[in-house]
Amino acid sequence: MTRHVLRVGVFGAGGRMGSTVCGAVAADPEFELVAAVDPFHGGIDLRQLGVPDTGLQVARSADAIAEAGADVAVDFTVLDAALENLHWCAQHGVHAVVGTTGFTDVDLSDLRVRFEKSEANALIAPNFAIGAVLMMRFAELAAPYFETAEVIELHHDEKIDAPSGTAMLTAQRMADASQEWADDPTETVVVEGARGGEGPGGIRLHSVRLRGLVAHQEVVLGTTGQSLSIRHDSYDRTSFMPGVLLAIRAVREHPGLTIGLDSLLGG
Ligand code: NAP
Repeated sequence: MTRHVLRVGVFGAGGRMGSTVCGAVAADPEFELVAAVDPFHGGIDLRQLGVPDTGLQVARSADAIAEAGADVAVDFTVLDAALENLHWCAQHGVHAVVGTTGFTDVDLSDLRVRFEKSEANALIAPNFAIGAVLMMRFAELAAPYFETAEVIELHHDEKIDAPSGTAMLTAQRMADASQEWADDPTETVVVEGARGGEGPGGIRLHSVRLRGLVAHQEVVLGTTGQSLSIRHDSYDRTSFMPGVLLAIRAVREHPGLTIGLDSLLGG
């Protein structure tokens, strides 16, 4: 029996995540990397980005994804580009797997409508690391037993949005799991932002940007006489690849728009 090899295109192929995805897709016999798009790196051979020889050059526009007959397009770009690429995927019936962060609730509502009308589906996950998905689950599970909680996310020094999508989703899930959060006691703020940003449920979010880091997060919960810290570290971009490949495989079976990897992991 011949197995259908999924044809995959990658938006943002010249970026840190995009080039890692190109390499992971090219190395997996279940997939064929058929197009790589990045307007700012157009024309260069993928080998120059450290991807094994595929014979592909980076294309400047999404048309390359349609011309190559891709079944699924993966996007790791910047917010405006990702929105444009997602609209394009919905319009052209190409399934989308998206890791770009920074979508607002309004963006997501609009995308939900577009993908309900489209032949294609979309999966947007702020974090493709399986350990990070579990960290969010554990934080949600712990939330009802604590009255105070803060989320500290730490990333490399070239990340342009803050807080991270993972931090926002973590706080949202904790806020949905408990309404019993204590008020912030702060009366005087000496340095603007010292208490971080106020996320869902009033949970404070702190963003650290440091050279040398990749993606890290600690959720700290406190109640009388005890605290609980839940920490996840991605030391390398390859940590995201099993989740990305899982999403590429599964997106066709999840109609409309899916947020997060949770529903793909079961349990
Ligand atoms: P990056 O290295 O800056 O890569 C983004 C790439 O997209 C760049 O090469 C950029 O080109 C390119 N680009 C810009 N506009 C484009 C367009 N219209 N079409 C195609 N490509 C376009 O950033 P990164 O570290 O890879 O991160 C990318 C995104 O993924 C960020 O939002 C980050 O937060 C997110 N991320 C998510 C996860 C997850 O698990 N979900 C993990 C890590 C990162 P230029 O550099 O020339 O502008």
